[in-house]
Amino acid sequence: MDIIKRIKYLKKLLNKNNYLYYIKQNPELSDGEYDTYFRELLKLENLYPQYKDIDSPTHRIGAKPSTEFKITKHLQPMMSLSDCFNEEEFHTWHNRNSKILKNQNFEMVSELKIDGLAISLIYENSKLKTASTRGNGNEGEDVTSNARTIKTIPLNLNKNIPGNIEIRGEVFISKSQFTTLNIEREKNNLPKYSNPRNCASGSLRQLDPIITKSRRLDTFIYSIGYYDSSILLPETQYDRLKFLSELGFKTNNNTLLSNSLEGTINIYKSFEKKIPELDYLCDGLVIKVNNINSQNIIGELTRSPKWAIAFKYPGNRAITQIKDIEINIGRTGTINPIANLVPIELDGVTITNATLHNPSYIEKLDLKIGDWVYIERAGDVIPKVLSVIKNKRNGLEKKFIFPIICPSCNSKIVRNKSDAIYYCLNNKCITKIKRSIEYFVSKNAMDVEGLGPSIIEKLVSNKIINNFADIYYLKKEDLLKLDGFGVKSAENLIHSIENSKNRSSVKLLVALGINHIGNEMSDLILNKFESIKNLYNLNYDHLLEIPQIGPQIATSIIEYFNDADNRTQIDKLINLGLNYKNIKSSNINSDLLGLNFVITGKLEKFTRSEIKDLILSLGGKVSSNITKNIDYLIAGTDPGSKLEKATELKIKIISENEFKILIK
Ligand SMILES: [Zn+2]
Repeated sequence: MDIIKRIKYLKKLLNKNNYLYYIKQNPELSDGEYDTYFRELLKLENLYPQYKDIDSPTHRIGAKPSTEFKITKHLQPMMSLSDCFNEEEFHTWHNRNSKILKNQNFEMVSELKIDGLAISLIYENSKLKTASTRGNGNEGEDVTSNARTIKTIPLNLNKNIPGNIEIRGEVFISKSQFTTLNIEREKNNLPKYSNPRNCASGSLRQLDPIITKSRRLDTFIYSIGYYDSSILLPETQYDRLKFLSELGFKTNNNTLLSNSLEGTINIYKSFEKKIPELDYLCDGLVIKVNNINSQNIIGELTRSPKWAIAFKYPGNRAITQIKDIEINIGRTGTINPIANLVPIELDGVTITNATLHNPSYIEKLDLKIGDWVYIERAGDVIPKVLSVIKNKRNGLEKKFIFPIICPSCNSKIVRNKSDAIYYCLNNKCITKIKRSIEYFVSKNAMDVEGLGPSIIEKLVSNKIINNFADIYYLKKEDLLKLDGFGVKSAENLIHSIENSKNRSSVKLLVALGINHIGNEMSDLILNKFESIKNLYNLNYDHLLEIPQIGPQIATSIIEYFNDADNRTQIDKLINLGLNYKNIKSSNINSDLLGLNFVITGKLEKFTRSEIKDLILSLGGKVSSNITKNIDYLIAGTDPGSKLEKATELKIKIISENEFKILIK
C-alpha cells in the first residue's frame, strides 16, 4: 500500500463527507463507515507523523489545551456595524447613500444578523491556516485549534484558491444545543450559561479544544476580508455569498435582495415574526449595499462601513421599577442580592424578581431601590437588570446597603475572590440548614416525596431537626405536633423518608450538597474511590487523577471532607444504613455497559427511578431525549412523541418485558 496515497485518499474522503454531512446534510458514508475510515487515518498518521498535514480531519478531535491564547493580527481590520432601531433611522441611512450613488433604487441585500461572535479565518492555498476572534478589530485571539473542531468550518476549500484569503462569519450555538448543555450543567451543579451568545463565546474561547468540540458550535459565513489580488471574486455581496457556499462554507439562506426603501423595510418586518422560530439567536438584519463597487464609492468611517447597517429588533426587554432588594441565602451559604420588581409581563411570563449577582454588580449599575430599570430575560434563566433609567429618578430612590453580616445568623460574611460572591460560613446558620435539607431531599438527590420547603421550615424552626441526617430519626409523633398533619399523611411521609434509604451511594454523595458535585461527577468519583468513606482522606493529587476534575472541584471536595461536622453527619447516615459504597464495584454485572436508554410512557413493573437506577447499576446510561446516539427506547403505555422520533431514527424500541430479557 502506498501510505501517502492512502492518507491523501482518506483525508479527501472524510473531509468531503464532513462537508456533505454538516453543510449539505446529506452524507454518503454511514456513521459506522465514517468511523472506520477515521480510525484508519488516525492510525496511519500516528505511525507516519511526517505525513500528517494541517488539513487532516483528525485535527477535529481537538488539540492539546494551551495556557493562553496567542494574539494574531488580522490581514484586514474587522469592522463593526452601526445600528439603527427604527424606520426613521434606516431612512436616514438610505437617503445618504442614495445621494452619494445618485440613485434612489440602488440594490440592497438583507442578511440575518446572527447573535454569536465574529470569527476570521485565513486560508492559505485553500487550507485553513488561522482562525481568530475579532479582538480589538486589528488583532484578535488565535483560536485555530478550537475552530478546527467546528464541523461547519472547512479545513480545506472545495475549490483551488491560490494564496491568502480571509473569510469572516459568526460562530454561534443553536438554541436547542444551548438548552441541552444547560440541562447537563445543572445536573452537574455547574453554573448555567445565561444565553447562547455567552455560551458560544465561552466555548470558542476555551483553552482546551476538547471542550470546544463538545459544545457543538456552528457557523454562518458572510463576508470576505483581505484577499490576494490574483484571486477573482464576484462583483456583488449576493454573489459572494453564493461563492462562499461553493467553497464549502455554511451560509444563511435567509438572504434577500431589494432595490427600494419600502421593499427592504417590508423584509425587515416580515422577518420579525420568523426569527423567534429559528433555532439560533438573531437580533436584527444586516443591510448592505449589494454592489461592491458602490460600496467602495460610499466608503467607510474609521471603525465601521457606511455601506452597511445593522437594522435591529427590540429585544426581550421590559421596563419596570425596583420595589426592594432582598438577600437570598443559598445552601452553600451564598449571599445573593435579588431585585424585587413591580410585576411585569415579558415573553408571556410575569416577572417579579431579577438577579443582581453580587455587590459589585449593583455598584456598577449604580442601582437604587425605587429606580426604573431595563430588565432582560434570555432563555429560561432568571431575568437580570440591564441598566438604570436615571432620568426617571425623582430623588426618593434609596441606596441599598449590602449587609456585612448574614441576615439569618448574624455571623460575618466573607467574599470569595474568584466569583466576587459573599458567603455565610457558619455551619449552624438556620437558613443554610433549611436550604441544605431542601436540597438533600430533592428529586435530583434522595428524592423524598412529600417533604417540601414548608414542612422543612416548620421542622427546623421548631428545632425538631437540625440537619439532614436528622430526618431519619423523625417519628410519626413529631409530625403530628405540626399543623396540617393527620395520622395518614404523617405515616406516608415517614414511609417515604424510610424508602429513600435505598438510594444509591451516587445519589447520597450528590445529596450532601458539595459545590459542583452533581450526578455525573458523583458517579465518576465513586467509580474511582468506591466509597464515600474513602473520600475523607483524599488529597488534591488523588482527585486530579479523574480527568473531569479541575482544581476548583477538587478544592471544594477537600474542604467539605476536612470539616469534622460534615464527617460526623455522614457517619450518622452510614450508621443508619444508607448506601455509601458504590454497588458497581461489588457487582460485576455490566451487561448494559455503554448502552444508552430513553424511557417513555407509563411503566407497570418499575417506577421511573427504579428502572433508571437498575440501568445505571448495570453500566448503562439514561437520557431524556431521543438522539441518534440512543440504543434503546423502553416504551410503556401512552408513549407520546418520543416513540415517533425513535421510529424515525430507527432506534430499537422495546417493552418492559423485553428489557427484562435483555438484562437476564
Ligand atoms: Zn448565616
